[in-house]
Amino acid sequence: MKPTAFYSHPDCRGHDMGDGHPECPQRLDAIDDHLIATGLDAALERREAPVVDLAELGHAHESRFVDELRDLLQRVAAAGRRSAIDPDTIASPGTWAAVVRAAGAAVAATDAVIDGEVANAFCAVRPPGHHATRDQAMGFCFFNNVAVAARHALDVRGLERVAIVDFDVHHGNGTEDIVANDERVLMVSIFQHPLYPYSGAVPMGTNMVNVPVPPYARGPHIRALIEENWIAPLEAFRPQMLFVSAGFDAHRDDELGQLGLVEADYTWITQRIKDIANRHANGRIVSCLEGGYNLGALARSVAAHLRVLTGA
Ligand SMILES: [Zn+2]
Repeated sequence: MKPTAFYSHPDCRGHDMGDGHPECPQRLDAIDDHLIATGLDAALERREAPVVDLAELGHAHESRFVDELRDLLQRVAAAGRRSAIDPDTIASPGTWAAVVRAAGAAVAATDAVIDGEVANAFCAVRPPGHHATRDQAMGFCFFNNVAVAARHALDVRGLERVAIVDFDVHHGNGTEDIVANDERVLMVSIFQHPLYPYSGAVPMGTNMVNVPVPPYARGPHIRALIEENWIAPLEAFRPQMLFVSAGFDAHRDDELGQLGLVEADYTWITQRIKDIANRHANGRIVSCLEGGYNLGALARSVAAHLRVLTGA
């Protein structure tokens, strides 16, 4: 058995917010091409993301929001024309098919890891999810893939404690909105501050460790902040499973933020997450792609992340 499942689906490329939008289908092509070129692909168990059961979305989102967003996205699919939800977040005819595969990947990966089919899993999906709140799509995000998966682990699979780790350059306001004060969840994050969505400096709940990072901070500074702020709470919480909002837009070459991480920093962060998972959670990790918009840096950083997950 290969240790790491790699969930994706061709429909995730069909979500297309228009020429020049950084959250573009080519992101997934860049990741795939690099995994094949480096041979890392051979260490992964490729799995097709299923369509999510819509009831799963209700564990993280208000049912009225799920229904309204479904209706909107299905109307856009039928009309064959784009429709903007906000200036950054645009529904295209392929968006509905993509969002149900993205959330479906996260839930299926959770089941596969809990069932012991694989040690861990990475979901190479779009659209990302961590800005989607209980009742709002925003910031390139529609449904919150990681929050849906974490609630599936708790509400459906009966786990008692899960951690969510978010290292995207942007604050995961949507995930925070969903899990704030859910004592079954510990959320730890780093994010550039100030930067979109300009939240996070004051945590919404007692179950979260928010670490704002000033612009132009580089790897050693960020590693020290993670070491000082994340590790002791994670050790004390003893999560039974870890979910990762894996955004790679804190990379030095990414133009959406001003942080200075490089591939070696993603290796280090992933190893720290894996150490916690190995100590407390039988190694159980489900990681979902969030941001990362410089195609070369994204592909190399995902490879660094996967090299640690696979042990390759
Ligand atoms: Zn981001």
